[in-house]
Amino acid sequence: MKKPIPEAKRAIILGIDGGHPELVQKFIKEGKLPNFERMMKEGVFKEALEPFPTITPPNWTTIVTGAWPGTHGITDFFLPPEPGQPLDKMQFAFDTRKSRAEYIWQAAERGGKKPILIKWEVSWPPNHHGIQIEGCGPGVVNLHELGPVRLHTIEELPLTARIHLEPARGWKGLEGSGESLEGKISLYLHGGAEKIYDLAIIKSGRAGYDKIIVAKDRDASRPVAVCTPGQWSDWVLDEFNLKPDPEKIKTQDAERGKIRKYAQKEIHDNQAVTTAQARAAGLGGEPPKDVAKGTFRFKLINLAGDASELEILTTQIWPVSGYTQPLELGPELLEKVGAFFTNPARDALHYGWIDEGTFFELMDYQHQWLAKAAKYLSSTREWDLLFVETHCCDYLSHFYLNYYQPECGASPSEQKNALSWLTRHYQSIDRMLGELLTIPDEETLFMIVSDHSGTGSAQQLLDSRKVLEQAGFLVYKTNPETGPRAVDWSKTKAFPQRGIYVYLNVKGRDPEGIVDPKDMDATVDQVIQAMMDYKDPATGKHPYSLILRKEDAALLGLWGDRIGDIVYAVRPEYDLEHGSELPTSRVGELTIRSLFFMKGPNVKKGLHLQRLTQLTAVAPTLAYLLGFPIPAQAEGAVLWEALEDPDFRVNQVKALRKELDRWKKLYAGLAVEYDLNPRPEVEE
Ligand SMILES: [Zn+2]
Repeated sequence: MKKPIPEAKRAIILGIDGGHPELVQKFIKEGKLPNFERMMKEGVFKEALEPFPTITPPNWTTIVTGAWPGTHGITDFFLPPEPGQPLDKMQFAFDTRKSRAEYIWQAAERGGKKPILIKWEVSWPPNHHGIQIEGCGPGVVNLHELGPVRLHTIEELPLTARIHLEPARGWKGLEGSGESLEGKISLYLHGGAEKIYDLAIIKSGRAGYDKIIVAKDRDASRPVAVCTPGQWSDWVLDEFNLKPDPEKIKTQDAERGKIRKYAQKEIHDNQAVTTAQARAAGLGGEPPKDVAKGTFRFKLINLAGDASELEILTTQIWPVSGYTQPLELGPELLEKVGAFFTNPARDALHYGWIDEGTFFELMDYQHQWLAKAAKYLSSTREWDLLFVETHCCDYLSHFYLNYYQPECGASPSEQKNALSWLTRHYQSIDRMLGELLTIPDEETLFMIVSDHSGTGSAQQLLDSRKVLEQAGFLVYKTNPETGPRAVDWSKTKAFPQRGIYVYLNVKGRDPEGIVDPKDMDATVDQVIQAMMDYKDPATGKHPYSLILRKEDAALLGLWGDRIGDIVYAVRPEYDLEHGSELPTSRVGELTIRSLFFMKGPNVKKGLHLQRLTQLTAVAPTLAYLLGFPIPAQAEGAVLWEALEDPDFRVNQVKALRKELDRWKKLYAGLAVEYDLNPRPEVEE
């Protein structure tokens, strides 16, 4: 008789935003990722095809609902305006309340299963009864932070905090040569308040200034933090008064305005915009009271021996409470797991405040924290589904792929540097994976999935607004109040919105619509024709890879009221590292496909899947294998190809029926003998 197929009782799902199938395979071949290699040998692997657009919110929502973006409605990084609002007013998309499809953890709870979500992407606010840690977004959306990552320096740089040094006076317990300097460290808090510490710079040896002491009330005998150059302080746990000073807010707003001139890419100012939007949408839950406890740490990035250079980094100030479900979990995590943060200072690396090594140290700390939290919660709580996410590989895509890929003009030394950091970060994830792999038993399914990966780009982003302006469909006017150009809706027939859509400005649908509904078909054709005719003046190339009427976009899983009248995709060289390019795109050796691994009961071993594997398959496959209801709007199919016995549920039912028949017969015999009250069919 065939041995019965074991059944998965639990599942662990590691999400790796931006996880790259080609890079993982390359590093596995080089023997650098032993735990990924183990996943490949003990289970199945595939370069999966993600939905379009190739960006975070739609794709994570597809992973956990099994539905296409057209169905769950999270159709881009942002969402379109509510009906009746101008076409350029976007809504925040990192919001589970906006999804129209049931989540896998909700379906699992219907089936009596218990979920734990640890920093799982696009899962906030929680919509289940299980445990959740954060889940707001990829370090671009820092809903719960008390204050952002900051650089403190004696130079005047936008968005940094200025330190003015002078001879130290009136300090208690200050060691050193007596030539110590002092200044103030000012931490910016959201809402406009500040936290100010005293800073002393001392000469502890003969080589000049070599140590900083952060303290309260100039008392160096009880320091808040101590660092030497290149060193991190211990974690600081402190109280923060969040009541703002109105005058300070004005200064800070002015500082914020300067960032556009300073940031390497304007897009990174999105962090402030998206966080503000998300908070405005009521996403952060109860805002912290006047005083909140939080954790952060210092790193002394640079201190010159004569104190002519000084750069100190402070990490994200993360609250002790308020970012978990249940709320009381926060202090317990701090005690048992350590200080948490979501943002490994990605913006600080973009601004050139920190070196790549410092970013790596924060990323690696986060990976250790995630593994420790997963081990702690899985050993102290009841659970059936454990979700853990790292955003590391997406940061890597945006930092390094342009320097890694020769197709993007990277020099050999840039390629070498990029490869070295890519390798180290993937190895950090591999170590986290190794820790997570100590949790499962033989009844646990283990899955790894990413939402997209990335390709290098040639940094010539396509602006479809220019294309439509040039063709006369989009008209701007100068805004008399604010100065910059604003859309002249009275003359605009078509408006590109978000990353992949064009909307017509339709009478009766849009606030200042001018296209008559009966002319829509003809106007859509004209706009598509103008886009098809467009060539990049710099290269003579046509930048679009696909331009579709709305109804044709069903091919890509896009439909409904949250997509435009036209859907387009751009060639990868006109896109950022991912987003507006097709899920099938490729630059050199890198595709943009997603990472998929699965091992456990009933899963084949050592198989590279050959059939089409889409991210819509993840939720149905988990539900099928664990035996809980399929999420209500799921459209994907179970990954039959991956299973030892795809028919095991049918065979289970057959075996149960057989068993039932046996019991019926036995029961019939007993009924006669003991004169039990027999059922009608037994009497026959
Ligand atoms: Zn992503």
